[in-house]
Amino acid sequence: VRKEATSLEDIIQELTPLLWADANLRGQSIEVKLGEHIPKLELNPKEIKQLILNLCRNGMEAMEDKGLLTLETRKVPTGVELLVSDTGPGIPPNKRDNLFQPFFTTKAKGTGLGLALCKSIVERHNGKVSVDSEVGVGTTFSILFPDPPQAG
Ligand code: ADP
Ligand code: MG
Repeated sequence: VRKEATSLEDIIQELTPLLWADANLRGQSIEVKLGEHIPKLELNPKEIKQLILNLCRNGMEAMEDKGLLTLETRKVPTGVELLVSDTGPGIPPNKRDNLFQPFFTTKAKGTGLGLALCKSIVERHNGKVSVDSEVGVGTTFSILFPDPPQAG
């Protein structure tokens, strides 16, 4: 896929109205925490939008009314991290391994394709996706976009 120097912050700002509208309908709220000094990344903006939307939709679908979805970016020593957290029911340990497999869904009308697509998008960006979840507390999906290798 075609990649260009892209600001993750700009992408998130573009999606914010859409996400807020969605959250409002559900009686949920959203918090956006944008880290400072985040370099532009070589990204395919369309794919990254899809990635963020999928993760946010899953978070919202998992939560009851009054849930809080948090979108965060931060610089870490090895790259840039994007985190999507929810205050939903969490994911039991025995299901965590299956999440990214195509057609795995626990929803009556789910496709089970959202996270499989997320994983392939992240891989096309040489990134890593991981999930951290506590039953009864919530779930965080983290994407690491590694810094490009230094020349020399
Ligand atoms: P779908 O949303 O169509 O079910 P996904 O691939 O997006 O398919 O997600 C697969 C499954 O992973 C969901 O059905 C759900 O069981 C679980 N899941 C994904 N995100 C979350 C989340 N934030 N909280 C709890 N469960 C989740
Ligand atoms: Mg989904």
